[in-house]
Amino acid sequence: MRCPYCGSVDTKVVDSRYSEDMEAIRRRRECLNCGKRFTTYERVEIAPIIVIKKNGEKEEFNAEKIKKGMKRACEKRPINEEDIDIAVREIERDLRKRDSIEVSSMEIGEMVMEKLRSMDKVAYIRFASVYREFEDVETFQKEINLILEKYGGR
Ligand SMILES: [Zn+2]
Repeated sequence: MRCPYCGSVDTKVVDSRYSEDMEAIRRRRECLNCGKRFTTYERVEIAPIIVIKKNGEKEEFNAEKIKKGMKRACEKRPINEEDIDIAVREIERDLRKRDSIEVSSMEIGEMVMEKLRSMDKVAYIRFASVYREFEDVETFQKEINLILEKYGGR
């Protein structure tokens, strides 16, 4: 690792520790040429998952965004944040298992609904109603009936 001050490649590691989130190793290095210290971070590099949105735009998969959507759906429901975290991690893991690094936002929405369905029916219906963007109350009601019929949640 080249020293950012003098450009020498002669450096030594004086301290290594995990970052707070445990997702990186932080190393303090000292330049053996000029004596200055600097920090480097070592992280796992994985290819990003690319999400194709409804309008065709692409964006990087963002676990936080999914978590936010799920949290909104689970508001005031008896669901731990931890369980949401686990669900999001499982979704990400399932996405990484696939051959393609591209996924449509619709598929992700379906995956989220699948998780919520097993967690809490109210949260599930809330999410589905936002996600499916129902045009009117009637369509929404129909969909709910369909959901309840399909999953026997009366
Ligand atoms: Zn130096």
